[in-house]
Amino acid sequence: MHIAGINKSTLLDYPGKVAAAVFTGGCNLRCLFCQNSSLVEGLIPEIREADVLSFLEKRKNVLSGVCITGGEPTLQPDLSDFIREIRTLGYAVKIDTNGTKPEVLRKLAEDDLIDYIALDIKTSREKYRELCNVDIDVDKVNESIELLKSGFFPDYEFRTTVVAEYFDRDDAAKVGEWLAGGRRIYLQNFVDTNTSFVGRGVLHGQTREEIEAYAVILRKTIPEVSLRGID
Ligand code: SF4
Repeated sequence: MHIAGINKSTLLDYPGKVAAAVFTGGCNLRCLFCQNSSLVEGLIPEIREADVLSFLEKRKNVLSGVCITGGEPTLQPDLSDFIREIRTLGYAVKIDTNGTKPEVLRKLAEDDLIDYIALDIKTSREKYRELCNVDIDVDKVNESIELLKSGFFPDYEFRTTVVAEYFDRDDAAKVGEWLAGGRRIYLQNFVDTNTSFVGRGVLHGQTREEIEAYAVILRKTIPEVSLRGID
């Protein structure tokens, strides 16, 4: 495992649990709005897997979940073994993914290694390539969406970071059609920082009112639509 960071205690990364968040290094996308560009580029020194497991062993009476996030965790060849070690310690496991590796997700589900999965939906299908900044195969993301919708995982969420330049009401309607039949989606606002691939001042967040309008549109096809981290 290439582990580039750990948040030792978080209430935000695993719904309903006090969790640790483990950040894997590297990603196959270069989303313009990414908040972790140095982590994606593999520029952050690795943390030893043994040290992470030792920390989790010591904290297992305080924490109840581990969120494996990135970067993109499904690129790690020994991800299953790592999760098995975490599970042996008694933790529930959540994974955050961009959905480009449905075959990895399918295997993780078949091996019953995931308790909760969060799948990023970047924007409507038409804008995916431009926002992800690579020649992404959106059909792969679609395959992952179908895995979630068909109940492959015990629990899940879709989540979208709304960037003004890449998400409007028309995109909300298209995403609603795309995810129709899905259980829940969280909308979070883009926060402009210097750590994105485009630097500060190029992309913009949106008003709460506008994001609430997206929620109304999405509720036509998705039962649970919530705003996350938006004042
Ligand atoms: S936003 Fe996520 S999927 Fe996109 S480049 Fe960053 S880590 Fe990868």
